[in-house]
Amino acid sequence: MAASLVFRLHDRGPEVVREVLLERGWEEYDEEEQEEEDWNLYWRGSAFRNSEYHNLWPWQRLNHHPKTVGITRKDCLARNLRRMRATFGSALYDFSPTAFILPNDYTRFLAEYNRLRVTRGPSVYWICKPVDLSRGRGIFVFEDIKDLVYDCSVIVQRYISNPLLISGYKFDLRIYVCVKSFHPLTVYIHQEGLARFATEKYDLSSLHNLFAHLTNTSINKLGPFYKTEKERVGQGCKWTMSKFRHFLHSQDINELLLWQRINNIVTLTLLTIAPSVPSCPNCVELFGFDVLVDVRFKPWLLEVNYSPALTLDCQADITVKKGLISDLIDLMNYTLTDSLRERAYQRQEYKQPCFHANQPSHATPELSKAKETKRKRSSGHTSQTLPLLNPLQQHEKRTQRQSRQHASVPAYRRHLLPVDLHAARGRIINTTATETHTDRTLNLILSPRSGTDVSAVNRRTCPALAPWLMDSRSPHVSEVTNRDDTETEAETDASSSIRDIPLRGQGFRRPAASWKLPDIHSGTHRPAMKKGQHVPPLRVGGFIRTFPFNAATLRASQHHLDVRTVIQELHKLTAQLATSEEDVRRDTSAGEDFDSLLWGPKDPPLLSQHFKPT
Ligand code: ADP
Repeated sequence: MAASLVFRLHDRGPEVVREVLLERGWEEYDEEEQEEEDWNLYWRGSAFRNSEYHNLWPWQRLNHHPKTVGITRKDCLARNLRRMRATFGSALYDFSPTAFILPNDYTRFLAEYNRLRVTRGPSVYWICKPVDLSRGRGIFVFEDIKDLVYDCSVIVQRYISNPLLISGYKFDLRIYVCVKSFHPLTVYIHQEGLARFATEKYDLSSLHNLFAHLTNTSINKLGPFYKTEKERVGQGCKWTMSKFRHFLHSQDINELLLWQRINNIVTLTLLTIAPSVPSCPNCVELFGFDVLVDVRFKPWLLEVNYSPALTLDCQADITVKKGLISDLIDLMNYTLTDSLRERAYQRQEYKQPCFHANQPSHATPELSKAKETKRKRSSGHTSQTLPLLNPLQQHEKRTQRQSRQHASVPAYRRHLLPVDLHAARGRIINTTATETHTDRTLNLILSPRSGTDVSAVNRRTCPALAPWLMDSRSPHVSEVTNRDDTETEAETDASSSIRDIPLRGQGFRRPAASWKLPDIHSGTHRPAMKKGQHVPPLRVGGFIRTFPFNAATLRASQHHLDVRTVIQELHKLTAQLATSEEDVRRDTSAGEDFDSLLWGPKDPPLLSQHFKPT
């Protein structure tokens, strides 16, 4: 039987990820019973270590790209946006409130504070936020500089004092952004998201009242009016994005321009770090962009969250986050099972049954090392309680575990494979579960157009990977998703990746950076091909591709990201949007390009389907 997919959660969370994956038939990693590499997805809220990126196996994925702190820490974001503004002008980069990083920028802040005091009078407000805290901790709003007190690194930002209000309540939007890949830059925004409300009416005469000025759930949950039925907002402090959109429609507000501006903000923000993020195709990232909309419908970027909260506090959370995680898994394009991982282990076990503590192993250096570590870890106290198992016992144990898990899955799910569930809901996922395992398996390691002699590289850099991956005569049938049968797939630029991540002394594996994830679609969902380029699908579940958004940006992102060209395209787009978004839609030549910037363009969700009046 082919192996179930296995997920590994750091620190036992988040629960919604576990729930979604178990429902889809995945197994949870058990470190007592499984080998260290025996998992397909490792999810953690905090950053992975460098070694964890370097040591990835082809069947493994991580939920973070390396080095994204440039947008996820408040001071880094402020610095990067300032740099982009200086390079590309403030016309595009005008979406984040002016910010100063204190104490360093204190003199500059003072000058600006005094300048505005003279030109605008006292009614200019500021917000002070510790650079490395989240969930509203340590934040305060002030008008007079004498109230600015801080004892750690903070950013002081212009306070957007004219927010759009709903029945007098301030809110912001949590936009979920998935960066499928930084090389080439491929970005999806989820149609669902959250509107997060303050729980007391907005009032500039009470700046100290955090329940009126901050929209963080962790703050408002503690407020006296959290459970109260608030005018129009209702109980609690969250709406789904669908409900918010319904509200916009009910007010006759044309939301398209707003969403396009938000898309632009996301792209422009990601451009600040995209060229410097190392290529790691086995990673995806889910960012939470916090956006405040002012009375003129201008969206402002407040911050970017590295690990957006996935707790399920209320019905809106359940509706949004379960679907979001499920779509994210679809975007990662796993098939139902992973026989590559299974076969690696089976072969290992049956060919090398002697990785037991008392016998030397001839297994691959890395597997041996992992097993050795594991053995050392357990030998101190578990040699009696946890006997080492022979391959047959291991197999039995695994089967028992699988049947236990199987038993815990509701009957109707046991018979409905996850792929069918999603296909039925119109999602794009890989439905070709079988593929003859031939030399082509190697393509998952090297990009097809890397211009590199695959076998030579493998001989040079990963001799020990060869035994099972290089076996071109293998009679086995593969169900791996890490395959690449698209000759025109964008090159992952193996050469630069190799430069990014130095090869290890033993040269056991190719660096993870040069591995390539498969297409996220197959069969009938094959992407359109444009002059030999691979176009990522426009939509995967609720995720809509927002970058690349036209042929020019597709070209500009295929090899080394050409930021200038992308910026030019965004300039053009913004200019066109400014004239009229209706023109954009009518202009047939631009139509196809710009369609993808619209919110759910090809298959817009019916609000009536999403919104259930309470
Ligand atoms: P945290 O990481 O602590 O959540 P944020 O930057 O998201 O920090 O700020 C918390 C909340 O404060 C936001 O959700 C928003 O309601 C409010 N806020 C932050 N910055 C501004 C600003 N410049 N103008 C108006 N409100 C702001």
